[in-house]
Amino acid sequence: MTPLLTAGVGPAIQALLDDLVASHRPSSPAGRVPESIPHLASADPLAFGIAVAGVDGSMASSGDADLPLSIQSISKLFSLALALAHDPEGNLWSRVLREPSGTPFNSLVQLEAEAGIPRNPFINAGALVVTDFLVELLGDAAGSVVGFLRDLSGSAHVAVDEGAAQAELAASSRNRALANFLAGFGNLRNPVETVLEHYVRHCSITMTCRELARAGLFLANGGQGGPGGQPVLSAAQTKRINSVLLTCGMYDAAGEFAYRVGLPGKSGVGGGILAVVPGRCTVCVWSPGLDAKGNSVAGTSALAELTARTGWSIF
Ligand code: GLU
Repeated sequence: MTPLLTAGVGPAIQALLDDLVASHRPSSPAGRVPESIPHLASADPLAFGIAVAGVDGSMASSGDADLPLSIQSISKLFSLALALAHDPEGNLWSRVLREPSGTPFNSLVQLEAEAGIPRNPFINAGALVVTDFLVELLGDAAGSVVGFLRDLSGSAHVAVDEGAAQAELAASSRNRALANFLAGFGNLRNPVETVLEHYVRHCSITMTCRELARAGLFLANGGQGGPGGQPVLSAAQTKRINSVLLTCGMYDAAGEFAYRVGLPGKSGVGGGILAVVPGRCTVCVWSPGLDAKGNSVAGTSALAELTARTGWSIF
């Protein structure tokens, strides 16, 4: 274990990140990219970037950490945080649970069996409910998530890739079915097409690893770190989001990720993973090739090595 890595992002981190890029960047295409999102097929299969943002304001990165990636399901973490920021009583939790699903992220079966209450906010059904909640609360849910991410990351470049969103929307039969199920069970308050469009648009936001690491910092910092020094969430809300990330953030491989990496995290089918080291830093890693569960192959193995070498696991 590296003794220098005791607070924030110390000077040894840069060398470690360079090392991780050298050993985990794929040398030939590996894994798969999702067929349901046409835009993602064009991602460079050899891309690999990693960024670490410290709670002390420090930042280190290596590889393709400044290239924009499609954040996809990582947006579900920020849409949930935005919803909870407006919902201190936690009313949302009557419409979505906090249990791992054990099923694929876009599964219909469980939603039918469990009467339209999604298992958690990070599977597609749960994220559609959160998006519906934001539409009701703020109107422009996707635009509000973009604004939230710009504020958190300090970057005006955060934006929806509208071409990617339109292409995904045209191929969204499954998510449309999920939204219709939710509506059929009375767990959607806005029209299916409205909710679906906002959901797909916030999934189609592009950001770099550095921007994502910075945007997630409040999760490592007890909810502190919003614009103008305001807290983003309370410490209690932040603790709970991290708990749900640990148990539900990696599709139905959350157990495997906890075993290998040992951090709360959220992945997206764009190949990004945002992981939280409470009290210390966030880590965003990106490489497009996915395993069978939808998590970045190279990203997961790099995070496993990072926590093994630094002792940054929560366990
Ligand atoms: N927009 C994607 C979908 O709804 C997100 C999938 C993901 O990253 O898990 O299928």
